[in-house]
Amino acid sequence: MRITLAENAGYCPGVGKAVNLALETAANSGQNVFSLGPIIHNPQVIEFLGSRGVGVVNDLAELPAGSTLLVRSHGLPPEKLARARAMGLNVVDATCNFVRRAQKYAKQLHQDGYQVYIIGDQGHPEVIAIKAHTENNAVVIRGPDDIDKLELTTRQKIGVIAQTTQRWENVQDCINKLLRKVGELRIYPTICPASTRRQSETMKLATENQVILVVGGKNSANTSNLATISRAAGARTYHIEGPGEINPDWFRGVSAIGITAGASTPRWIIEGVLSRMEEIKEQQTENLDQPEASAPENMAEVAMEMTGPKLERGALINATVVKVEPDRVLVDVGYKTEGIIDVKDLTRFQIDDPNEVVAVGDEFNVVVIKTENEEGHPILSKKRADADLAWEEIQKAQSADGIITATVKEEVKGGLLVDLGVRGFVPASQASSQYVEDLSQFIGQTLKFKILEVDERRKNVVLSHKEVEIAEQEAAKQEVFASIKEGDVISGIVKRLTSFGAFVEIKPGVEGLLHVSEIAWERVNHPSDVLKEGEEIKVKILGIDQEKGRISLGRKQVLPDPWVTLQKEIKEGDVVTGTVTRLVDFGAFIRLAPGIEGLAHISELAYQHVDTPQDVLKSGEEVKVKVLNIDPEAKRISLSVKQAAPEPKKKESAPKKQAASVPTEPTTEGYTIGDMVGDIFGDALKK
Ligand code: SF4
Repeated sequence: MRITLAENAGYCPGVGKAVNLALETAANSGQNVFSLGPIIHNPQVIEFLGSRGVGVVNDLAELPAGSTLLVRSHGLPPEKLARARAMGLNVVDATCNFVRRAQKYAKQLHQDGYQVYIIGDQGHPEVIAIKAHTENNAVVIRGPDDIDKLELTTRQKIGVIAQTTQRWENVQDCINKLLRKVGELRIYPTICPASTRRQSETMKLATENQVILVVGGKNSANTSNLATISRAAGARTYHIEGPGEINPDWFRGVSAIGITAGASTPRWIIEGVLSRMEEIKEQQTENLDQPEASAPENMAEVAMEMTGPKLERGALINATVVKVEPDRVLVDVGYKTEGIIDVKDLTRFQIDDPNEVVAVGDEFNVVVIKTENEEGHPILSKKRADADLAWEEIQKAQSADGIITATVKEEVKGGLLVDLGVRGFVPASQASSQYVEDLSQFIGQTLKFKILEVDERRKNVVLSHKEVEIAEQEAAKQEVFASIKEGDVISGIVKRLTSFGAFVEIKPGVEGLLHVSEIAWERVNHPSDVLKEGEEIKVKILGIDQEKGRISLGRKQVLPDPWVTLQKEIKEGDVVTGTVTRLVDFGAFIRLAPGIEGLAHISELAYQHVDTPQDVLKSGEEVKVKVLNIDPEAKRISLSVKQAAPEPKKKESAPKKQAASVPTEPTTEGYTIGDMVGDIFGDALKK
């Protein structure tokens, strides 16, 4: 039996974003978050979200001021959004960008004088919100049949918008019909790419398989559309909400099964369906392989009784690995011949080599699938035994602290698969408390997980590594808070650099903030000018806010204070060399040593009058300065550039020009005749 899962089965980007935003908002605010109507049309997800603090209300009036309203990916009518804000609700908008685009086009068409037609479901929240953007003037049609009921004339200007999850064929049929009836038709094919991809994949799957399982809420428009497409393509189609609804009889005599899922179906439900289908596949294979009830005259059975424990089909027995071959593993089960575990019966995960899972000498339980093959070897399954034990372990862990350890096996769309003996699913948002760009980095790691959801019947196990990390960080934080006090000097690792400072890890998962102004005594433009990520540094604890979980750190405080050093090396009246760092209207800042800058007032830059400091100095220039005053407490130094050099001799003043009056004792000493005459003329001219 071949089972094929559609590549794009499950959450679309818009739904994924809304669900993650809802969970994050509830977790970060510590308050309940509400959506007006269910965030997505899937009852299991709604139940799960409810358990994480994301509730559903049917009317804004149910929400008290100050609570948080999450706008679903379907969007909201503008007047409802305005009302929510006027009520003082904290609005978190998760409207999908493709829905926003449809709203924008509808509004534009309406403003441009077109009668807007929306192809979609009248009561669907997305359609209601789009219609509201046309002042509720748009007409909603389900399909071409509705167009026959409309009174249309060739003089009309018609604009068409489609609900984002519509079937393309339906939209096309509507457009063809409208084209024959109206004068002007403007069409915005607003079906979103995620829906288009899912629909064409379903169509292909339906033509290549005999039976199709469409997984998703029965009230989900896009999932129902997939079921319609699959049936239209001729495949026997079952629309199910989860693995519990699967009936093994559907697959009797069937060799190819396709599975697809709507945009609102979470990966853990799809995983549950896959696990259930694998079980059914195994059972059907066994039934084909194994004749019913062993015949008493079966000599092998008789021999078994004579040579060791009786093997019964379905029994759980202990096995020890004696040999690992490329496609099978031989084990000792205390029987006359070695048992065989086929590579496909070793694990639920895809492996290239049995050595990835077992080694010679390993002991574990196996389930007897067949008491003997043609060569007299029992055929066994480790995978089945693991699954049986896994459910017990999961139940035990759940009733203890809810924490279980497992190895990450695969990255799948929307998250990670881990090996619990059964498949466990970790949604991408639950993989880590930090942003993770590439989930594949977890593959092969054995980690602790918090069990979020277990449903043996539905074959669902949903896990979170993020919650374990957060709990560990919280515990480490409390431990750190109890062990440090302001003024302590400790070591830490620079984890992240931002424009405003560096985050320094004090203990695994506990970080403090080293503000940019506290990195060094000298001015630091960006933390990366001084620090490197991964570097170990000494820091002083400047402040602890246990309530907000914040620790502020200082690095310059553990470095030698340049003001102390300075006082030993420089005194008032000394002439030293410095570098001009900044020129401002009132003077120049001059760096004397790392972390020590003094100010030379504009009046101290030169003996002559200076209009602006730039007239006499350049930034970066080295200058000699005289230290006029040092104030270590205020950390101020006054400098003088002009006093560092001897005062230039005053130029002898030019001889005074003769006044207009004639000296009482006429003399030419110090004057030229021209001076005198000129002055006389000048004076005469002034009159
Ligand atoms: S189906 Fe398309 S339009 Fe709707 S939420 Fe998903 S991505 Fe957005």
